[in-house]
Amino acid sequence: MAARPAISNDRTASRTCRAAALGLGLWATTGLAPAHADTVCPGNPNALGTSRTLVVDPMEHPRIGTMQYRETLPLKDHEVVLTFDDGPLPPHSTQVLQILASECVKATFFIIGRMAHQFPEGVRRVRAAGHTIATHSENHPLHFEKMSPERIRQEIDDGIKHTAEALGDPSAVAPFFRVPGLRRGQVMEDYLVSKGIQSWSADFPADDWLRISSDQVYSRAIARIEAKGRGILLLHDIQARTVAALPRILQTLKARGYRIVHVVPATPDRPKTPTEPREWYIHPPAASVAMAHWPRVPKFLFVSTETLPGPALSDSDLHGGKLDDLDRRRTTIGPLQTASPFHATLNAANNQLALPVPSQSIFARPEKAVAVSFGVSPIVMPVSHHPAVASRPRGAPRAVRADNGPRLIPGSQPIAQPNLAPSAILQR
Ligand SMILES: [Zn+2]
Repeated sequence: MAARPAISNDRTASRTCRAAALGLGLWATTGLAPAHADTVCPGNPNALGTSRTLVVDPMEHPRIGTMQYRETLPLKDHEVVLTFDDGPLPPHSTQVLQILASECVKATFFIIGRMAHQFPEGVRRVRAAGHTIATHSENHPLHFEKMSPERIRQEIDDGIKHTAEALGDPSAVAPFFRVPGLRRGQVMEDYLVSKGIQSWSADFPADDWLRISSDQVYSRAIARIEAKGRGILLLHDIQARTVAALPRILQTLKARGYRIVHVVPATPDRPKTPTEPREWYIHPPAASVAMAHWPRVPKFLFVSTETLPGPALSDSDLHGGKLDDLDRRRTTIGPLQTASPFHATLNAANNQLALPVPSQSIFARPEKAVAVSFGVSPIVMPVSHHPAVASRPRGAPRAVRADNGPRLIPGSQPIAQPNLAPSAILQR
C-alpha cells in the first residue's frame, strides 16, 4: 500500500511497527513521537505533514467537540484534527489512507465494529499507518439516544470488542467514542465515563454523508474551518465524494497555514500534554476577564429530617397589635418625640394673621370649562354603558347632562358623585 514507504522512512512509524511486532501495541509507542514531525515526508517535500502529537486524558475532559459540547480539544489557532467515521470499507477507506500517507498526515478513525469484523484487514491498515483507532458503535444504529440502556451499552461494548479483535490487541483501541449520527444522550455519556472513554463530537462537519458533490464537501469543510480557526473536522472514509475532496482539502489547509495535530490517549507510560483549562474552549474568555459561572448548587447532606416548629405569635414583639417593649426602647434610644421639632419655633404672631376670605367669584368658570375640569375621572366608563347614552340615537351629541348636575364628558362620572360604586367599576 502507498502508506508503506512513508512509514518505513518515518522514525516514529518505525518505532510503532517494531513495538507492534513486539506485541506492545500502538499506544505504548506513539508518545515518543517528535513534537514536530512535518519535516520528513518521502516523495512530497510540500506535504502538509503532522505538526504535533497531542496526548489527552479522556477522563479529564470526557466530552469534546463544540458541535455538541462546551469543550473541545486544546488546539492552537490554525490547528486541525482530522477524523473519519464509519469505516473501514474498501476501496474508499484504503484510498483515504493513501491520500493521508501522501501528505504524511495522521488522523483518528472511528471504526464500526461490524465493519471491523467484516474487513479486519482494513482496520489493521489504519493501525499500520500510525493513525488513532477509535470506535463508533457496533451497528451504527440511528436514534442511538432512544435505545434502551442495555442496547446502548451493548453497541458500545461490541464495537470496541470487534475492533480490538480485528487488531488482535485491545490496547490498540483508543478510549475515544463518537456516537452514530451524533445522537448523544445521558445514558451513553454516563456509561462512557464509567469506562474511562472520551465522547467525541466535532467542531465542524463537511456534510459528506449528504448527497452533495465533492466540490461542496470541499467548500463546506474549508469554510467552516476558516470560520472557527481550529478544531475537529468530521469526515467519512466510506464516501467516494470524501475521497475526491480530501486532496484539495489538505492542499488548501497547507496553503492557508493550517497544521494537522494527531491526538492519542494518555497512558501510564505516556503523560498527557500539559494544557490550561481555558485552552479547551474555542472562544475562551480573555485572561483579564473573570469567568462568570452560575454557582453550582451544592449537594446538601441532611443529617436529620426533623421539621422545625413554626413561629408563634409570642415569638414576635406584637401583643394585641402593639409593641410591648417600648419601655426598653426608651432606655436605649431616648423618649419618643411627641411634638414636631419645629413646633416651638413658629412665630405666634404670624399665627394670628387673618387672611381675607376669597371671593366666590374666584371660583367662577366659563360654562365650557366646567365639563372638562369637573367631570374628568381617571376611570373612564365606555359611553355605551352610561344609561343616558345607551339609547342615544345615531349622530346625537355625545355629551350628556347628569341629573341636575354639570355637563359631563361621555362615559365619565363626577368625582364627588356618591353613587359611583367601586363594584360597578370593577364589573366593567
Ligand atoms: Zn457514523
